[in-house]
Amino acid sequence: MPFLIMRYPENKAKAVTFSYDDNHVYNRHLLEIIDRHGIKCTFNINSAGIRRGTAMLTEDLQTMLDHGHEIAIHGAEHIAPGMVPLPQAVRDDLLCREELEKMLGRIIRGMAYPNSGVLRFYNGADYAQVRDYLKAIGIVYSRTLGADNDKFLLPDDWWNWNPTAHHNNGNLFTYIDKFLALDPSDGYPNNRHVRLFYLWGHSFEFENKGNWDRLEEICEKLGGHEDIWYATNIEIHDYVEAYRAMQTSVNCDIVHNPTATKLWFQADGKDYTLAPGETIEL
Ligand SMILES: [Zn+2]
Repeated sequence: MPFLIMRYPENKAKAVTFSYDDNHVYNRHLLEIIDRHGIKCTFNINSAGIRRGTAMLTEDLQTMLDHGHEIAIHGAEHIAPGMVPLPQAVRDDLLCREELEKMLGRIIRGMAYPNSGVLRFYNGADYAQVRDYLKAIGIVYSRTLGADNDKFLLPDDWWNWNPTAHHNNGNLFTYIDKFLALDPSDGYPNNRHVRLFYLWGHSFEFENKGNWDRLEEICEKLGGHEDIWYATNIEIHDYVEAYRAMQTSVNCDIVHNPTATKLWFQADGKDYTLAPGETIEL
């Protein structure tokens, strides 16, 4: 009986993604550095700031998109969903989505929680209520914080997506070295699952600490690897969800791809691809 193991696009087993918050103009410098290293980032944007035109402009967001990055919501006015009456939080996220979509002429489906996110609730709401309203307004994932770790796992809950680390984490370079040394193609099948290195922060932190060289060092280590998929948050979400939509027989000896996405997987040490609409017998 085949043992199916997901692979990322081009048969890769490791992925790197960045997630940077807020509308600071230092995002322009961050963009220049990550572009040089081929790293993909999700920029989490407050639409009210773009509307007011006091920092980054719509043209900046368009440049990010043109360079293959993602624009995601971060609350129109940066409101944490646990801090205000729930209807106000719903409005802030829905408004952010609507405004960014109008500015950019595209569908926006990702998010990073502003402020304390879903770590604290002073408004009588709970995490389940926030997750449910985000689903209802078309947000398919949201990044949280406060659980840095070196497990490199995909989230088991897209609306509670914990990154690997903030860029100032004292263990960051130990985590990076461990990630780069991993070989998920080897060993017991249960250990061959894909891995993800997910870095987050704010560009103004590099400016305030005067440590842009830290970002250069991070990118030099994480960038430029043939065996790593450099992807935005939404690209990872959409690929994984497409893979999960794959239909299989009980024995997994027949597999069918009902999606519009090409899928990659391993079975018993062999590499397979499954084109959109394709059915194969293993
Ligand atoms: Zn923020």
